[in-house]
Amino acid sequence: MRGSSMPPPQADACGILAEKFPVPELPEVETLARGLREQIAGRRILSVRLGKTDFIDDPTALERDLPGNRIESVARYGKFLVLRLAPGNGAAGAKSERACLLVHLGMTGQLAPRLPEEPVARHTHAFFALDDGRELRYTDIRRFGRMALVPEAALDGLLGNLGLDPLETTEEEFRARLAERRAMIKALLLDQRVLRGMGNIYCDESLWRARIHPTCHAARLKPEQVTRLCRAIRKVLSAAIRLRGSSVSNYVDTNGQPGSYQLRHRVYQREGKGCFRCGAKIRRVMVAGRGSHFCPRCQPAPRKRALRARPRRGRRRGGTVAAD
Ligand SMILES: [Zn+2]
Repeated sequence: MRGSSMPPPQADACGILAEKFPVPELPEVETLARGLREQIAGRRILSVRLGKTDFIDDPTALERDLPGNRIESVARYGKFLVLRLAPGNGAAGAKSERACLLVHLGMTGQLAPRLPEEPVARHTHAFFALDDGRELRYTDIRRFGRMALVPEAALDGLLGNLGLDPLETTEEEFRARLAERRAMIKALLLDQRVLRGMGNIYCDESLWRARIHPTCHAARLKPEQVTRLCRAIRKVLSAAIRLRGSSVSNYVDTNGQPGSYQLRHRVYQREGKGCFRCGAKIRRVMVAGRGSHFCPRCQPAPRKRALRARPRRGRRRGGTVAAD
């Protein structure tokens, strides 16, 4: 990779800190990373063809510097796909720097290898020709995704503000993180600086499994609740990865197949339906701007004292159940 004129991708612009949309979450991105690892690791990128480029940080650098690189590995970091590249023999004399292609799928992004003769899906905006004749295509209807070619040395700086990986963290680390902040537990689980990779679906499912109301204050959870939550998150995410993610919008894996964890959802988007555990009707409350689904019986609301820890003028007491 020549030069370093490319501006770093803005963490918040990638939607990693305060995303407002349902996006592929940890299990979906992990499924994609595994699929891509199987299918394209080791391949060399021969050329780059771009359509709309408003989701790419410095498309010119991408077109100029990506060809010649070999895809060494594919990994997931939070909700990012990280394609590590080995420099090619490329341009004579040009000193190549190791780089990574960083991809955040936003709301509707898809990245998959296809044969050139396969029909091109609408909204396909990037084509990377591979040395085995296939092309890696990036499709994104809404273009809330992000893509950037970054020097490997800059990767830590860009992703370093992301929190713990929920599948790798210990219960003690998790407990310490929860105790650090004054926030409702749902808001905290969604915050990518605390845990990386969790989104609305898996937060709701984990809280239901752990029997914790989404508006409970994280720092006031009892030790046994924290233990339950930590275990619930791991169980839910692991099961979702096994079932290749949840297809609630247009998510499909690298073979174009939907995941099936949506069939196991216990609360997410089940408002008004019966709780699988107790039969009570699932309700929805707004937390951190996101509709949060819960069972009012299995996940009792915190006492009002906790809810009114920081009262604001004009705020409706207790009545936070919203239609969204
Ligand atoms: Zn219930």
